[in-house]
Amino acid sequence: MTASIREFVGQLPIVDVHEHHLPEIILQREVNLVQLFQQSYAGWARARPYCLPSESRAVDPMLTAAGPTSWEALAPFLDQSGANAFVRNLVRAVVELHGSGAPEITRDNWQTLDAAVRAAHRRPEWRHEILNRARLTTVITDAYNDPLLDPRPALGANYRSVMRINSLALGWHPQARDHNGNRAHELLARVGLGASSFDEYLAALEKLVAGMPARGQVALKNALAYDRDVNFDDPDERRARAAWGQVAPPPAERKAFGDFIVDHLCRIAAAHDLPVQMHLGTGLLRGSHPLGVAGLIERHPRTRFLLMHLAYPWSRDLLGMAFVYRNIWLDLTWSFLLSPSHFKLALHEAIEVLPDETRLMLGGDNWHVEETYGAMQTARRLIAEVLEEKLAGGYFSDATAERLARRMLQDNARKFFRLE
Ligand SMILES: [Zn+2]
Repeated sequence: MTASIREFVGQLPIVDVHEHHLPEIILQREVNLVQLFQQSYAGWARARPYCLPSESRAVDPMLTAAGPTSWEALAPFLDQSGANAFVRNLVRAVVELHGSGAPEITRDNWQTLDAAVRAAHRRPEWRHEILNRARLTTVITDAYNDPLLDPRPALGANYRSVMRINSLALGWHPQARDHNGNRAHELLARVGLGASSFDEYLAALEKLVAGMPARGQVALKNALAYDRDVNFDDPDERRARAAWGQVAPPPAERKAFGDFIVDHLCRIAAAHDLPVQMHLGTGLLRGSHPLGVAGLIERHPRTRFLLMHLAYPWSRDLLGMAFVYRNIWLDLTWSFLLSPSHFKLALHEAIEVLPDETRLMLGGDNWHVEETYGAMQTARRLIAEVLEEKLAGGYFSDATAERLARRMLQDNARKFFRLE
């Protein structure tokens, strides 16, 4: 790699379009080394924190307390899952930020690293220092445990949030909850809204969206791929209304209700010039293929959709959609943590296929700043490698590579989320 493009990408500020910086976790003062692993995607390598339809869980493993750090507690991550890309990303960040030159966490250095992690997190400035070192100018957080969070008072003026709509799409009954435990009717009540009929519910959702800018919320977030399939079919109003008021509507009525509400929210989002960020790929795997949302995207040409994670493992299908539908933008978040090598392949193709240079942006998707720092380092390295390969092949010139990098890391997100 030539020094120039690597250095250029390395020094660029980043607008981070997706994190899970939850005040409950990121503001904790007692954080140890094993907790960094448990509350990260390295943790997902050991325990999937959401249920498949055949499963149930008592608590979210991401939000349960970690015990004291020991080699026995670290070994499952470092030894059994040590080759996993999530683990590699976090190990690299931890040794860079807390270590003294050793490239791995070992039986010999884990105690020193654990003490350094605990000391760092006791200092309130630690979080800001690391985000500055990662050159993040703005962070958009998805507080899935508090979908109406205004992040600015707790986390800082450079934070914005997204409003998760999962519980809204499942709000046929006051007791209905999404996979994170949120209830639509409780959210409405918190901002002085209520609904005793289906029509009142639709009107209340309009007001809920209208209130987003005042809460520092810059997009709606559809993560329904963790609650149901993403086949948001043509709205069937009769069936959707039939679900209203039932504790446990039949599956077809639940789906119709969700389809109808998602359609309604996409229409309102366009009216308020707010984009819709949508999780695709993995999740409930059988129902998360990106083509499932094609109908929704066609029905709402004025809604701006930010489709996430390269819809791994269906990135090529997603790129085909992003070529055809001009109301699609791509959020590369998570794809480079899942598989760095697939990310590079897909980014090469994305650069070639996408209709213009405004379409790509990225985020970290993490709970602690160490993993966010690692994600940004990984993203910079991989993006620079791809641009270098394009330069070496004569695909474009330095000026084009630098302009594209600046757009991917900051300009596109700033314009897309109207952050100016
Ligand atoms: Zn996420």
